[in-house]
Amino acid sequence: MLKDFFMGLSQNQFLNNTAKKYGLKMGAQTVVAGTNIEEAIKSIKELNAHGISCTVDNLGEFVFKEEEAEEAREQILKVIEAIHKHQVDAHISLKPTQLGLDIDYHFCLNNVKEIVDRANNYGIFVNIDMEDYSHLQPTFDLLEDLSLEYENVGTVIQSYFRQAQEYLEKYRNFRIRIVKGAYKESEEIAYPDKKDIDANFIKITEWHLKNGKFTSIATHDHQIINHIKEFVKKNNIPKEKFEFQMLYGFRKDLQLKLASEGYNFCTYVPFGKDWYGYFMRRLAERPQNLNLVAKQVFNKKTNTVLGVAAGAFLLGRMTKKTKKRR
Ligand SMILES: Cc1cc2nc3c(=O)[nH]c(=O)nc-3n(C[C@H](O)[C@H](O)[C@H](O)COP(=O)(O)OP(=O)(O)OC[C@H]3O[C@@H](n4cnc5c(N)ncnc54)[C@H](O)[C@@H]3O)c2cc1C
Repeated sequence: MLKDFFMGLSQNQFLNNTAKKYGLKMGAQTVVAGTNIEEAIKSIKELNAHGISCTVDNLGEFVFKEEEAEEAREQILKVIEAIHKHQVDAHISLKPTQLGLDIDYHFCLNNVKEIVDRANNYGIFVNIDMEDYSHLQPTFDLLEDLSLEYENVGTVIQSYFRQAQEYLEKYRNFRIRIVKGAYKESEEIAYPDKKDIDANFIKITEWHLKNGKFTSIATHDHQIINHIKEFVKKNNIPKEKFEFQMLYGFRKDLQLKLASEGYNFCTYVPFGKDWYGYFMRRLAERPQNLNLVAKQVFNKKTNTVLGVAAGAFLLGRMTKKTKKRR
């Protein structure tokens, strides 16, 4: 229920637009690395100092007009220039819908191509993030079209899909990020149960480590991470063939520990004015993150619509809990 609530909030365009007018609120600053490129570069430098590389996501939501997609493209080009100028260890993560996939496939392809081309000039990799099932095939199509000219591009495979192994085998020659999957999908195409999603994550990760190009293992799940650590040791998989990835602000201790153990580690660094949808999806994924919100809403005076919405919601939850205890 909580998941649906936050997923609902993430899709609320009014709240999204309202949030854009304010800086990071409600604890979002702990999981979003600022609202502008300078702040993001500062965070990247801090992570690089710990031997952690970064993948940078210039957040963007609700792109329906060509001008909006073009603006997103220009912003991402600026991020590439900043990565190059500051010589930080970072690459790009982008979402096809942000670059116009819902408007027109070829329009989107041209936008992404311009980004991949600029990144290629500087030897920077571009990851195409995977969104929901309706965008899955067009995203693989983008990858295939781009790969006709460029090698610095890869994508994501979500282990909740029943066909994940099939996708993986088809795209084995690309650098692939493996995740559990963040969207609400139907049972026909995706496993509904966590245990099946986790088992499939392990199965496809092991397969890709043995047969694929380069694997980014993107999870905060220590049990899966420990399992993979044992697997690579047993199978003599060299450390150059894979990395662990986590989101900015999550499990910082574990991020530092893995990097200090000599594993390649990459932090996903989201930033930008469009932080609201991303933040709500993180709350949907792990309601324990509500602690972040609670601290901010009750410790600071925040009079935004968002603050009031979250406060009212938390109050509702607390009242329910109190009732139960009685
Ligand atoms: C780098 C990165 C990139 C991603 N890119 C995409 C993408 O392109 N497309 C997409 O659909 N999804 C993407 N995701 C999101 C992903 O699909 C999952 O929704 C998300 O990572 C949550 O799943 P999990 O694997 O972290 O483990 P979960 O199933 O959420 O957690 C498993 C266990 O790990 C532990 N744990 C998890 N989080 C914490 C925490 N913060 N603190 C302490 N313990 C914790 C708990 O024991 C928990 O039970 C990405 C995730 C990452 C990390």
